[in-house]
Amino acid sequence: MTAVAQAATGLIVHGQTAQGLTGCPACGVAAVGHRRRRVRLHDIPCCGGPVRLVRAKRLWQCRVGLCPTTVVSEQHSLAGKRAILTNRAIRWATDAVEKCDASVSALSHQLGVSWRVLLKGIETEGRRRVGRL
Ligand SMILES: [Zn+2]
Repeated sequence: MTAVAQAATGLIVHGQTAQGLTGCPACGVAAVGHRRRRVRLHDIPCCGGPVRLVRAKRLWQCRVGLCPTTVVSEQHSLAGKRAILTNRAIRWATDAVEKCDASVSALSHQLGVSWRVLLKGIETEGRRRVGRL
């Protein structure tokens, strides 16, 4: 976490991963740091309002001339590729539906996302929990 700000729509938490070394998934040679891209994710509500994470995702570049991979994007356990919600927010909402009979509409309001976005995450998490993924 690098900064926290209070906005009209809730808390905004900025963060980034530490410098690290990664290999190119195609050729295995160490990739070179390229730049960072901001990724916005909705996280578990805090202090009665939505929380958004703004993560500076690392991008690496493979400089091996014949390698088909040019840029490698950082993957993190916090959220999947092109995710809108963090994995823990999906687990939180799925628990609330499963154990508290909470409505998807109410939970989506607390998370600051549409109910369609949340329902898709809950369906995926539900399938994972019953072993169908
Ligand atoms: Zn490569």
